Amino acid sequence: MKIWLDGGLRDAETARVSVFDHGLTVGDGVFETIKATHGRAFALTRHLERLTTSARGLGLPAPDLDEVRRGCEAVLDANPMALGRLRITYTGGVSPLGSDRGEAGPTLVVALSETRRRPDTTAAVTVPWTRNERGALTGLKTTSYGENVVALARARELGASEALFGNTVGALCEGTGSNVFVVLDGELHTPPLSSGCLAGITRALTVAWAGAKETDLPLDALESAEEIFLTSTLRDVQAVTRIDGRQLADGPGPVTAEAMRIFDERSAADFDPR
Ligand code: PLP
Repeated sequence: MKIWLDGGLRDAETARVSVFDHGLTVGDGVFETIKATHGRAFALTRHLERLTTSARGLGLPAPDLDEVRRGCEAVLDANPMALGRLRITYTGGVSPLGSDRGEAGPTLVVALSETRRRPDTTAAVTVPWTRNERGALTGLKTTSYGENVVALARARELGASEALFGNTVGALCEGTGSNVFVVLDGELHTPPLSSGCLAGITRALTVAWAGAKETDLPLDALESAEEIFLTSTLRDVQAVTRIDGRQLADGPGPVTAEAMRIFDERSAADFDPR
């Protein structure tokens, strides 16, 4: 397996990032996860735009997108596989313990791992912790994912694959690594970005292609929802058939099934939708 580090391809086994990297010591980094099918990265332009937005939000220098693209292409070429998870990590760089970000400049890593298509249905749970819709990191895809790791572990203990957060005012927000859509009275809704959720790329494409409304919803809308689905790079559109122990259906409901169909069709037709 080859990865991209320090401007070139390296062996994943022997490539090393400093133990004093600010990304490791204080979580000072941003990242993107991109779906790669037969060597092609889906929606790469949107992912690179979000990487830049996240980096700027964290006060990191804007990444050199030519280099990031070169890194993605090189890693994809060097590691052929049917379905992969391409990961870009961009951190504050090497810095002595206890000091601010280093002057040596950011660290950029591009890596790839093989993955499998997610099932069409899954179970989710709500968690008692909140997303802060007005925090310094709100809406940024930073490597500070500890809260998501804890929430996902709770979901797994309960036999679910995703944990859903409300925000500090009790509104529905998002999952640990996905956005959420609900069908209420036959209409498709998803929380607005002001709820504190990440500007998910699959979410934006689903809003545009399937015509969902962006609506402030209370967390307990999940209790009365006729259908629920999740969107993310690796899930695409995935039906939630059990929420907090309530069985909604055996398979995707009609609105979800249509959103899945549209997403599959449109994403196959345009690999870099803007
Ligand atoms: N919300 C969070 C917190 C995420 O980490 C992710 C994806 O990684 C998403 C939502 C979904 O975003 P995307 O569709 O761009 O993968």
